[in-house]
Amino acid sequence: MSTTHALAAGTQPAGDASWRELGLCRQTDPDLFSPEEGDSTAEARRICFACKVRKPCLDWALERGEPGVWGGTSASQRKAIRRSRTPIRRAAA
Ligand code: SF4
Repeated sequence: MSTTHALAAGTQPAGDASWRELGLCRQTDPDLFSPEEGDSTAEARRICFACKVRKPCLDWALERGEPGVWGGTSASQRKAIRRSRTPIRRAAA
């Protein structure tokens, strides 16, 4: 079962961000942005790459760990981005 993508569904996710009003996903099928596990995210991500607010959207989703497609990325892609940004802890000498 997928979680509804708040922005694509026309509702406002938590947090302050004026960019949300300009999201192309608000003009499309919300289900594209909340795929079932194993479904393709290609169509939603294609729409994101034409969206003028992709960067703030991606930053917003990276901060919050949202499910679904945000900022041209799937949830697993954002997880990989967050992991790559996490500093490596080194053992104390
Ligand atoms: S980048 Fe994608 S998810 Fe974000 S606002 Fe634009 S269309 Fe919606």
